[in-house]
Amino acid sequence: MLKVKNIIKYYGSNMAVDNLSFEVQNGEIFGLLGANGAGKTTTFRIIMGLLDANHGSVTLDGKKIDYKLVEKIGFVTEERSLLTKLTVNDQLIYYGILKGMSEDEIVKKMDYWLDRFKISEYKNRKIKELSKGNQQKIQFIAAIINDPKLLILDEPFTGLDPINVKMFKEAILELKDNGCSIIFSSHQMEHIEEFCEKLVILVKGKVVLEGYLNDIKKEYQKQNIFIQGDVDVSKLEKIAGVLEVVQNSGEYVVRIVNKDVVKNVFSIVSKFENITKFVVEEASLNEIFISKVGESYEK
Ligand code: ATP
Repeated sequence: MLKVKNIIKYYGSNMAVDNLSFEVQNGEIFGLLGANGAGKTTTFRIIMGLLDANHGSVTLDGKKIDYKLVEKIGFVTEERSLLTKLTVNDQLIYYGILKGMSEDEIVKKMDYWLDRFKISEYKNRKIKELSKGNQQKIQFIAAIINDPKLLILDEPFTGLDPINVKMFKEAILELKDNGCSIIFSSHQMEHIEEFCEKLVILVKGKVVLEGYLNDIKKEYQKQNIFIQGDVDVSKLEKIAGVLEVVQNSGEYVVRIVNKDVVKNVFSIVSKFENITKFVVEEASLNEIFISKVGESYEK
């Protein structure tokens, strides 16, 4: 488990991170969100021990992160850090050895991941001869070749086509299932919504919203229920807290005063025949971000 506790970081007099705390359990994907300059990169660098915080602590499985433990952290960023004149094979062996693996182990893992990413044929090609997307796959494999305890993904899908995004997502979920703690930062909210159970939103280094995505969404629940099927409108209109029921493109929209009314509407609707849809409208993460921060997060 990663534990970040009361981190404060100043650059000169500029406070880049203001008393940030969060925990990422094993097998959990955590979203670190914030507009440009919010303090995400600074936080990542502190976690990896590349930068000292002015205050606070970072521990992985209860231990302070030193040079030995850093080997167990995988990091994927937009910026590529591959030695492009090396072949894929030599590059991955190089990274594996840096992380203390034996050559046999590296080859086993490398072959597995090259196959998973459908790029085995490039094993003996130079990195510079590969497309950008395939270079990104190599960078990802380099980050995970030693089964890290913690994986930091900073905009990992930038520049990938949808098929490759899907492949990356499946690989990330496999790592999660194997107990890896994952921190994920992206400017694309749909990726965060799909992936992260828990998140923090930073504005100028300060936490403005944190918690489990499900709980956050409940808080921001909109006051509409969409129903399809044989609905007895008069019965719904009699429920306390129902403002109105309107018909709209083949479905009924029930406007309610607050989310507490949902269960009452549901208990009545469940008695109707042929109900094919009962959906309580959810605010998107981007709408929540705007309501909290006052501007859109998506670029
Ligand atoms: P982005 O989404 O643009 O990558 P970020 O959330 O990663 O932004 P940081 O790069 O951590 O944000 O920056 C946080 C704050 O710290 C900003 O005000 C930035 O200008 C400042 N900052 C970052 N690095 C340095 C540095 N090396 N020296 C001085 N100030 C810095």
